[in-house]
Amino acid sequence: MKFTLRFLPPNSAYVLLALAPLAAHSQDASAQETHGIVVANMDRSVKPGDDFYQYANGDWLKRTEIPPDRRYIDPNGLDFDDSNDLTRKRIASLIEEATKTNAPAGSNARKIADFYHSYMDEATIEAKGLAPLRPHLDAIAAIRDKRDLARALGESLRADVDGLNDDFHTANLFGLWVAPGFNDPEHYAAYLLQGGLEMPDREYYLSGSDSMRDIRSKYQTHVSAMLKLAGLTDPDICAQHLIELEHAIAEKHSGLADEHDINKANNTWKQADFAANAPGLDWAEYFRGAGLSGQASFIVWQPTAFTGESALVVSTALDTWKDWLVFRLIEDYAEVLPKALADERFAFFGKVLSGKTERRPRWQGGVAIVSSKMDETGSVLLAGRGVLGDAVGQMYAQSYFSPETKAQIEAMVANIIAAFRRRIDALRWMDPATKAEALAKLSNLYVGIGYPETWRDYSSYEVKADDIFGNLWRGGLFDYHRFVARLGHPVDRRDWCMYPQAVDACELPLQNAINYPAAHFQPPYFDPQAPAAVNYGAIGMTIGHEISHVFDTTGSAFDSTGRVRNWWKPADLAHFNAATARLAAQYDTYKPFLDLAVNGKQTLNENVADLGGISAAYDAYRTSLAGKAAPQNGFTGDQQFFLGFAQQWASKSSEAFLREQVMTDDHSPDQFRPVTVRNLDAWYAAFDVKPADKLYLAPADRVRIW
Ligand SMILES: [Zn+2]
Repeated sequence: MKFTLRFLPPNSAYVLLALAPLAAHSQDASAQETHGIVVANMDRSVKPGDDFYQYANGDWLKRTEIPPDRRYIDPNGLDFDDSNDLTRKRIASLIEEATKTNAPAGSNARKIADFYHSYMDEATIEAKGLAPLRPHLDAIAAIRDKRDLARALGESLRADVDGLNDDFHTANLFGLWVAPGFNDPEHYAAYLLQGGLEMPDREYYLSGSDSMRDIRSKYQTHVSAMLKLAGLTDPDICAQHLIELEHAIAEKHSGLADEHDINKANNTWKQADFAANAPGLDWAEYFRGAGLSGQASFIVWQPTAFTGESALVVSTALDTWKDWLVFRLIEDYAEVLPKALADERFAFFGKVLSGKTERRPRWQGGVAIVSSKMDETGSVLLAGRGVLGDAVGQMYAQSYFSPETKAQIEAMVANIIAAFRRRIDALRWMDPATKAEALAKLSNLYVGIGYPETWRDYSSYEVKADDIFGNLWRGGLFDYHRFVARLGHPVDRRDWCMYPQAVDACELPLQNAINYPAAHFQPPYFDPQAPAAVNYGAIGMTIGHEISHVFDTTGSAFDSTGRVRNWWKPADLAHFNAATARLAAQYDTYKPFLDLAVNGKQTLNENVADLGGISAAYDAYRTSLAGKAAPQNGFTGDQQFFLGFAQQWASKSSEAFLREQVMTDDHSPDQFRPVTVRNLDAWYAAFDVKPADKLYLAPADRVRIW
C-alpha cells in the first residue's frame, strides 16, 4: 500500500507555489540552516499534554495562510506529483545540466534533455496541430467491424494499473498489471483490471448527489468540445452516445471496497475461458492486438466488469466505439497537443474536477512529465508519462543521496526491525505458529533504501527533441513491452515500485518488500545532520508504520513468501480485533468539526500502523543511544523524538478538503496523527503530562497492539 504521507485525493485542488524559473537554481538554496526541531514553528504557550499538535506546530499554523488557489499547504510544498518544492528544484537543475553538457545522442542524459525540451517547445506543438494524431485517427476510421474493433482495443492495452498501490484507474477498456502471482509469487503473472472510464471512478457517473450531477453536466459539455476540436461533424450527438456508453461501463464496474479485497480479485482465467465467462468481445483478436496471444492465463481482478464490458462491445454501435477511441486518444494526449485542446482539458479536469484556477508554470509541468507518473491533478496515469523517471532517479540519487546517508538510514532500519522482532516475540496473545510466520516475514523483508539496485536500460527507447507526442506514445509502448517481457519469468523481489525522486514510500506485499525513495529522506522527515532523536521520531516512525502493515489485517493475507495465504489463527484475529476496537473508540472521539468526527473504524489499519510505528521507532531510538545520555539542546532526547514525530504532520487544509478527507480517507487527518503519543508511557514522562491534562489517559486505557 502506498504510504500516503498526506492524503491527496484525485479531485483536490492544488496549484504549486511559484518557484524560481529553471535557469536560476544551480545551488540548493533551500538547504536547511537549522537541523532538528524547528522551534520557530512551535507554540510553547500551549501545554503539550493538552494539545500536542498545537504545541509542536502552533506558530507555523498561526502564520500560514492557505493560498486562495490551493486547499492544502504544508511547510514544504508537497503536491500531487509525489514531489515538493525542493525536489522539483533539484530535478530542474539536473535537467538543466543534462541540457548544458550536450550529452551524446542515445545517452540517458540526452533523452531526458530532449524529452523535456519537446514538452517546452510550444511553438512546434502549435505548428504541428493534430498531425501527430493523424495515423492513429486514420486507423480508427478504418475499423470496419467488431473484429477490427477488438484488435484496436487490444492494441490500446498498456501496463498502467497497479492493484496493490491504489492505481486502479485506466481509461483504456482494460489495464494490465504485471506482478508476482497471487498463487505463485515466484513468477510474474498477468493481472487484468477493469477500465474504460475517463473520469476517476464509477461514482462520478452513477452518484445521485448534486455535486456529481453538476460534474456530469459539465463533463458532457467538455466531451462535446473535445470532439469538436478533433474535427468530428456531429460532436453533440456523438458526445451523448459516448457518455451513455461510459455510463453503461460504470454500471458494470466494481466499487472501491471490492477492489481492495484480494480474495475477490484472485480469479484465474485461462485465455480460453474468456469467451465463455465474458462473451461479446472477440478475445482472440483482443489478445492478438495486445501481443498476448501466447499468455496462457490471467488473473481477472473484477470478473463481473469483464463480463459486462465485453457484452457492451456487442450491444453498442460500432460508430460509438470508434468515437470513444477518438475521444480517448485526444483526451490522453491533450496536454501535449495545441493550446486549444490542452486548455479545454484543463477546463474540465483541472478546474471542475480539481478546483484549480490556473495551470502551473510550464517548466513545472515539464519537470513532472519527465520524472513522475502523476499529472497535476494526481488522477491521470497516462502511459508514457514519467517513463524516464528511472534515469532521472539515477542522476538524483548520485547528486542528492550520499552513501553516508544511505548507511545512516540502513542502520536505523536495522534497529527498527530488531525492535519489532522483540515486540512480536513478547506478544502474549499471538499463537506461536502465527508468531513464527510473522518473524519469518520480518527476516525475509526487503527494505529498499534510496534507489533500486539495478537501473533500467533505455537503449531501445527513442526520444526526439521535437516530438512530445511520439515520445509519450513510444514511452507507453516501451513500458508495456518491458512488463510483458517479464511474464512467466522469476520475480525480482528487489524491483522497485517508485522512482528515487518520489517524496513517498510504498509497501509491496507480493514481494514482501518496502521501498523508501531517496527524496523521502529530507526535512521534516529526515536530515542527516539532525539529532538521532528527531530522525527516529520522524522518518523512523514512518518506517515502522510500513513495517507494521506487514503484520496487520492487510499483511495477514500474504505469507512470508508473498503468497496469498491467511497465516493468522482465528484466535489471533479475535485478540487483534478486541485490542484494536479500543483504538478505534479513541479515534472516534476526535472531532475536527462539531458535526463531524474521525471514523475510528475506517482509519483503524492506519492508526494501528502509526501506533506500532512510533512504538518501535522509540525502542530503536533508545537502543541507538547504546547506554549513553542523549544530547540535549534545550529539549531532552525523548522530547526531541516526540516533537520530530509531531512536526512532520504540520499542514493546513480548507474546511471542504478536510471534510472530504474525514469522510473518505483511510488515514486520520494530519492533526490527529501525532496524538497517538498518548498511548506511550514515555511521552507522559517526557512532557510531565498529568491526569488533569486533556490528552491524559490512565495507564490501563493506553492501547498497545504490538
Ligand atoms: Zn499505512
